[in-house]
Amino acid sequence: MTELLFRNDGYLRSCAARVIAADERGVRLDRTVFYPAGGGQPGDTGVLRFASAPAIAIVDTIKGDGADEVIHVLAPGSPLPEPGTGVVAEIDWERRYRLMRMHTCLHLLCSIVSGAVTGGQVSDGRGRLDFDVPGSSLDKEAIASRLNTLIADGHPVRPRWITDEELAAQPELVRTMSVKPPSGMGRVRLMEISGVDLQPCGGTHVRNTAEIGPVAVTKIENKGKQNRRVILAFAE
Ligand SMILES: [Zn+2]
Repeated sequence: MTELLFRNDGYLRSCAARVIAADERGVRLDRTVFYPAGGGQPGDTGVLRFASAPAIAIVDTIKGDGADEVIHVLAPGSPLPEPGTGVVAEIDWERRYRLMRMHTCLHLLCSIVSGAVTGGQVSDGRGRLDFDVPGSSLDKEAIASRLNTLIADGHPVRPRWITDEELAAQPELVRTMSVKPPSGMGRVRLMEISGVDLQPCGGTHVRNTAEIGPVAVTKIENKGKQNRRVILAFAE
């Protein structure tokens, strides 16, 4: 089990940790700032630094088999650190910050378009959500304008934990049918954008919508009878 430091503070760029295990799948640490791919957000990349050995590049981060198990994926042919070795785990912060900004922006998009979310993906500089809405009711420019207003308004973004029972009593909180909220530990993490959006999410987010910066709706695609894909990109 790994202590997931990014869960309480998405702004941590590095941490001291200890190697628990290393094999061909990757390196497991006792604690980490690396976010493992999930919930539509890609896994972090970065580097593991050692006191008396060359640094090792981390090319991806994925979930392991156990709960809260994180695997730091190495480039093929990388040396494997010995269990017990002390490391400094450091993410590629510039990339992660762009992912956090776009991820948070998708919450705003979710609040603007009514209709169930059937899929979503954040990538570097871009993001998309699929909505179960009929016809061609979505207006590209209107969505972009509303998004940029919510961004510029500078709404605070913060986590709030509720119990599994409280969530079960409020199923309307779960907007995304394709992504199960992190639960089963007796409590669920909600992300709240004050007055705008509230839903379970295990990803990493910025603290204020103003950090997202201007965005554009690059495309609205027709992905089937009732499925509309809204694609966003940073405008700058
Ligand atoms: Zn989220």
